[in-house]
Amino acid sequence: MIEWISEDLPAPAAGEVLIEQSAIGLNFIDTYHRTGLYPVPLPSGLGLEAAGTITAVGEGVEDFKVGDRAAYMGPGKDGLGAYATRRIMPVAGLFKLPDDVPSDIAAAALLKAATVEGLVERCAKVQTGDWVLVHAAAGGVGLIMVQWLKAIGANIIAAASTDAKLELARKAGAHHTILSGADDLAARVQELTGGTGVSVVFDGVGKDTFEVSLDCLASRGLLVSFGNASGPVEGVNLGVLASKGSLFVTRPTLGHYYATPEDAAAGIARVWDMIGSGKVKVTIGAAYPLSEAANAHRDLVARKTIGSVILLP
Ligand code: NDP
Repeated sequence: MIEWISEDLPAPAAGEVLIEQSAIGLNFIDTYHRTGLYPVPLPSGLGLEAAGTITAVGEGVEDFKVGDRAAYMGPGKDGLGAYATRRIMPVAGLFKLPDDVPSDIAAAALLKAATVEGLVERCAKVQTGDWVLVHAAAGGVGLIMVQWLKAIGANIIAAASTDAKLELARKAGAHHTILSGADDLAARVQELTGGTGVSVVFDGVGKDTFEVSLDCLASRGLLVSFGNASGPVEGVNLGVLASKGSLFVTRPTLGHYYATPEDAAAGIARVWDMIGSGKVKVTIGAAYPLSEAANAHRDLVARKTIGSVILLP
């Protein structure tokens, strides 16, 4: 259950700031926290990502001042809690917004684009000319990923569940599209790649697509299984990876790719560059009042949303 509560906030302590939030990013992980797939101690706030303007700073804060715009994509001292009108956050997890990145775009894109940066550039290290398959290509992560891969010069096959979603993926730069659930995905991928298969599959769908993702890969290809939109992948028989072509599978999480402040700063600089240069255009598919967060969750899990969804305080 998601419930709206009022809470008085103290003044920010040393190393913290108070943020008047302009927009909150809805992420699929919020649904895992809500359902308990990723357990959190209850009762709990919800949400990892928001952007806004700093209205007070605690002692010893030097890199941020009142009036600066900033965004974050992780928990605070109090755990989850980005679904809020105002929030106290430690400066360690804050990123200053460049002038050319509006706060709603930052909330819509920071976590998703950082995920794409980490998966495409650091995890899979996609190169120009590589064949890649992207599942859920019209989703929040998906639309950013297709544009990012296009900028690198990859050959992109996009899968999604409706023709309207496939049209969005094409506009974002996908060279080929496949209707998931209707088309024989693996056969179509083999056909498009001349029987070779793709070098990399980016799969945030999880349980429903794990097997077919393996069947889409070239010999010694890499499955990047980075999410559980349809449920978690369990009970993997490693022998299958040998019989299907000495395949690689990884289950990455952003925290391990942004483990140090330097790694995170470099990744976020790249994110602002891709957005600022227009190589990645962020689609805000829907904006819900924060008070309607429950409806936003319902639509996200019902596969009704496209692009990024934000909540407005
Ligand atoms: P999306 O906007 O992509 O929404 C999820 C999409 O998954 C849906 O729109 C739908 O697209 C597809 N889907 C397929 N099967 C189901 C199902 N049974 N129920 C619901 N959706 C389904 O969400 P996000 O962009 O927020 O996140 C995408 C994925 O990335 C998630 O799995 C998320 O957990 C993961 N993620 C992982 C991170 C990491 O560090 N590992 C960080 C950030 C995100 P369609 O209808 O086209 O199939």
